[in-house]
Amino acid sequence: MEAVVKDVEESLLKKLRDNPLDYITLNKIGYIYLHSNNLVKSEEVYLKSININPDQFEPYVSLGLIYTITMNLGKSLYYLLKAKLFNSESEELIKSIEEIYSAIKNKYSSLSQEEINNLFNEAMSLLDKEFNQQAIEKLLILLVLIPENDLLIEGLSSALIKNNDYDLSILILNDLINKYNSPLAHYYIGVAYNFLSKPEKSKFYINRSIELKPSLLNPLLSNKISIRKDYEEEYLNECPICKSKDIELNKVFNQSFLSINYNIINPIRQWYLCKECDLIFANPRPTKRASYNYSVELFLDNRNKYNLDKLMLESNAYNDRLNNILKFKKHGKLLDIFSDTGIFLSIALEKDWEVFSVEENDLKSKFIKSIYPEINIQCDINSFSKEKFDVITLWENIERIIDLDFCLKLISKMLKKKGLFAISFHNRNSYISKVISNNEPIWSYPDYVYIYNKKYLVNLFEKYKLRLVDSQIVWRKYMSNTELYFIKD
Ligand SMILES: [Zn+2]
Repeated sequence: MEAVVKDVEESLLKKLRDNPLDYITLNKIGYIYLHSNNLVKSEEVYLKSININPDQFEPYVSLGLIYTITMNLGKSLYYLLKAKLFNSESEELIKSIEEIYSAIKNKYSSLSQEEINNLFNEAMSLLDKEFNQQAIEKLLILLVLIPENDLLIEGLSSALIKNNDYDLSILILNDLINKYNSPLAHYYIGVAYNFLSKPEKSKFYINRSIELKPSLLNPLLSNKISIRKDYEEEYLNECPICKSKDIELNKVFNQSFLSINYNIINPIRQWYLCKECDLIFANPRPTKRASYNYSVELFLDNRNKYNLDKLMLESNAYNDRLNNILKFKKHGKLLDIFSDTGIFLSIALEKDWEVFSVEENDLKSKFIKSIYPEINIQCDINSFSKEKFDVITLWENIERIIDLDFCLKLISKMLKKKGLFAISFHNRNSYISKVISNNEPIWSYPDYVYIYNKKYLVNLFEKYKLRLVDSQIVWRKYMSNTELYFIKD
């Protein structure tokens, strides 16, 4: 008998040498190793099979079995639950999962609260170090022991999402909802559905989480401010730029998990896509006044918090931007729109530009004036409408401008012929937006109203006689910025 198995093994291995991506053959080899008790080799082969094709039932079940035998219970549970995604009806599988639950309860039932806390802290520190898989396995064990713990649900959901395990996250959280109706579980199912491009489902679960627990509208403010119901916002039934009515829901986020909204801007942000022009816009959209009030609160909150690393990063970025401008324009009149706290202005002054500024936030403009009294700074772009500039810059704020058409008309009018217009923005098509940051931060700034990609802006600006002459992708700490440079024809 053994000789026959050896022959089969040989012929399968030969087949694999001819086609190393043949995952079905890998599963057969894994099966032979598993049943001849060579667990190490079997594990290796099945893991390779999943690596080649992650959408199959058998290797997950077999790995679950291997880890049950080796008493690696968290890992076992992870792989059995993964298998359930491909065959939720299998009675044998459901029984195996039940057995793991009992084994976990038996093994850990004698743990004191302190020991459970230690296990939890270990898992969270694995998560901090981006060891997501190991963190998930520990957190799955803890979920069996303390299922109603919000921190645990949050940690496990974040780890699964970072691991791109969206379906698994929905499966586990749904199970929790059936048992405990957890608001946080609803919220994270909503997040997972965003990544699966199912915005209507996302909207349902995120709204449900708020109904169950209204304080989820401002978790970062720890309930210091009561929830308001009358956000200043407007509903749009057409694309705000091209006016097409062909618009649809694209993503839904509760932004307050990443950004403080000061209870001014509705943190449940519905992002709509215009199928005609490809713009993504907030709908409902916060009003100009809400956006202004938000920027005041944000400034007051951060006024005395100087983060030297951030200042250095920003100074370097602005220095590079000015060097780019110098490739096209050596000197003259420069208008900076949305000057924020004036770092770019300081660099332009150093290089002997005649500097003008628009900063609509009074607190920020007073702050800039206190450092650079010589700068002509106005709160309304219209104040400069009769002037002509060699260079106009708009760094990192185009996403906040509601009346973009009005603003671009004015910019085009205020630029001298062959004048330069420079912007930077968070590009939703950038590598980091798509892959590394898992798409999330860009969608979670409360006062962003439109989200762009490069092609969109280049096409749009052409209508205002602004022609692209240079573009750069600049990586900063957590985000990449795309910078575009245009010449007025
Ligand atoms: Zn449109």
